[in-house]
Amino acid sequence: MAGLNDRHPDDIIIQEKKLHGLTVDLFRHAGSEEREARLIADHLVLANLSGHDSHGVGMIPRYVINIKAGMTPLNQHAQVVLDAGGLLVVDGNAGVGQVVAYEAMQMAIERAKMHGVCAMALRNASHIGRIGHWGEMAATAGLVSTHYVNVIGHKPYVAPFGGADARFSTNPYCCAIPRGDKPPFILDFATSRVAQGKVRVAYNRKQQMFEGALIDPQGNPTTDPGVMFSDPIGAILTFGEHKGYGMALACELLAGAFGSGAMRPGTMERGATINNMFTFVVDPGKIGDRTEVLAEIERSLDWITASPPAAGVEKVMIPGDPERNMRAHRRANGIPIDPTTWEHIVDAGAKVGMNQVDLEKYRA
Ligand code: NAD
Repeated sequence: MAGLNDRHPDDIIIQEKKLHGLTVDLFRHAGSEEREARLIADHLVLANLSGHDSHGVGMIPRYVINIKAGMTPLNQHAQVVLDAGGLLVVDGNAGVGQVVAYEAMQMAIERAKMHGVCAMALRNASHIGRIGHWGEMAATAGLVSTHYVNVIGHKPYVAPFGGADARFSTNPYCCAIPRGDKPPFILDFATSRVAQGKVRVAYNRKQQMFEGALIDPQGNPTTDPGVMFSDPIGAILTFGEHKGYGMALACELLAGAFGSGAMRPGTMERGATINNMFTFVVDPGKIGDRTEVLAEIERSLDWITASPPAAGVEKVMIPGDPERNMRAHRRANGIPIDPTTWEHIVDAGAKVGMNQVDLEKYRA
């Protein structure tokens, strides 16, 4: 994620409310109903606020291309295809991910409250964005959740451990744990060394990536983000060597098999992202005594975060803290958008019939 102070002097600074208003306006012009436009805006702007610019409003140009190409039909809803109490299979009908994942999570949360647990497979959803958004939804309802996600519908970006070309995508994993009235544990990451969107951000900003993240089309290590925009394409490596690779594979196999397929010839030619998500939602109060379970989590976190900070570290954090810190910072100081991303958003706005004046007013 972005660091608190890594804003570039050329960046355009937009306040949360204006960026949200722009996003709603743009998707209303594209044909989304009000609720859909708001759910997209809530999600993308919260991703920017959280420091995950790769999954924020920078996605708008890609979403508009997919909408215009008929790849993401608007105003679709999650459709239950298997309902077996604590087991749900939900089809997203390739609809807007921010809507169909929201509806699928609402159902899974309701079932977990009823049965103590729900295993939910969401299949065939257009890009569902930052997976932590869905973990936060469960945690806000007082529930634990885990999410295994894979990506199909476009060419592969990520190489298997020991491989020299890409075979699957950035397959995110998320685990969310509620903490009563304290902010939840939200572990949420791409199983690739970096999210593909972060390579795009580096490419747009004309920056090099750090070492150990990318290989070129010949399988050699490189720091040039351009290899992910060339033909033939390079690849991103998985995080954590063989362990991260194993986790990426778990996402690929579970989300793929219970969803609408894993990435391979036959599922990668569509030309637009489809996410599958295999999710467990668990009510901690139905496994044990809720108060005692939450108290044990606190005792454990107190012990772990009391570790003396290493040199250069302010304090030991838990997953979810960096995003919360960034939210506070960006709510106070505005959200930076790099000029290339802004230009692409303006172009996307023009494609859906917004004029320059409509768009520029959000920048002021
Ligand atoms: P990242 O590398 O920034 O890691 C984020 C995780 O690490 C968070 O849980 C964060 O709280 C935690 N973290 C970071 N620093 C920490 C610290 N010092 N102490 C404790 N915890 C810390 O994330 P990423 O891999 O770049 O992923 C970015 C986003 O991209 C995620 O939200 C992910 O869901 C999303 N994504 C989505 C898709 C998709 O297909 N929809 C694909 C890939 C990634």
